[in-house]
Amino acid sequence: LVAFLLYLFYLVPPIGQLVQGGVQLQQGLAAMKRIKEIEDLPAEPAEPTGVHDDAQPVGVRFEDVVFRYGEDRPIVHQGVSFEVPPGGLTALVGPSGAGKSTVFALLERFYEHQSGRILVGGRDIREWPLGELRGALGYVEQDAPVLAGTLRENLLFAAPDVTEDELLRAVTRTRLDDLVERLPEGLETAVGHRGVLLSGGERQRVAIARALLRKPRLLLLDEATSQLDAVNELRLREVISEVARETTVLVIAHRLSTVTNADRIVVMEGGGVRAVGTHASLVGADELYRELAATQFLVS
Ligand code: ATP
Repeated sequence: LVAFLLYLFYLVPPIGQLVQGGVQLQQGLAAMKRIKEIEDLPAEPAEPTGVHDDAQPVGVRFEDVVFRYGEDRPIVHQGVSFEVPPGGLTALVGPSGAGKSTVFALLERFYEHQSGRILVGGRDIREWPLGELRGALGYVEQDAPVLAGTLRENLLFAAPDVTEDELLRAVTRTRLDDLVERLPEGLETAVGHRGVLLSGGERQRVAIARALLRKPRLLLLDEATSQLDAVNELRLREVISEVARETTVLVIAHRLSTVTNADRIVVMEGGGVRAVGTHASLVGADELYRELAATQFLVS
């Protein structure tokens, strides 16, 4: 329950931000949507025996998953099957509305799928205790909010007990060292709407560092769609590749540079999986993928 409350807290920006105009309003609406989603959560199932609480990366398997958001809503996933082995970088790509974000929502168990199976670490997600499942997942939103407070507070928000060494390692791994050096008071500098404003790429790397400090066994990353300068784009790519060497990373990719680095790419379209492969194989074999690649993904 504590983990769940922390998680909830971590996803919902402070109320003060809701009245700060455009960006904050958007964040507020997203937060309200999430609250609604969390209200609709299924009851936590009884804890099965033999639970392992280790930090090994976990894989994912969707087996013929069928899902709709409500009985009166159209089917979103019409028999989705794909596999993500433990460790490495897997990219989900496809046009808007293909059902990519819904994959994340189902993995987080914001919703229950109607049929088929979803396995995390070889175990049906319906058998995972909800808190343990969410504790194993790190989730980085597309427009990750920066909370009012210092950079240190932002990083430690979901994992207040990590050591200074672990914090500094997360800063290094997410290439935030330059930012820390540039800020007048380093980690103690106020950021967010009451302090130094961070760029889209920096915000996402802060969110990745925050997620890494919770030692996720599977990182779900909805890549930033904002235009990044060349340096930030390169950094984000390096960070994603590096994190994928230690844990499983499933990314909704909006950048060509991310998919070219991916170990495997799952192409979704119309609620199904259309093709799976590497960038090189898909460019040769899949017309939709070729078209997406030609647009550089950012507008998908
Ligand atoms: P995008 O790249 O635009 O985010 P996507 O591939 O991630 O698209 P989803 O967000 O999974 O696609 O949406 C798939 C379908 O489900 C869309 O028709 C969308 O309108 C619908 N949908 C998504 N979220 C919800 C929700 N919370 N309630 C009802 N319908 C939803």
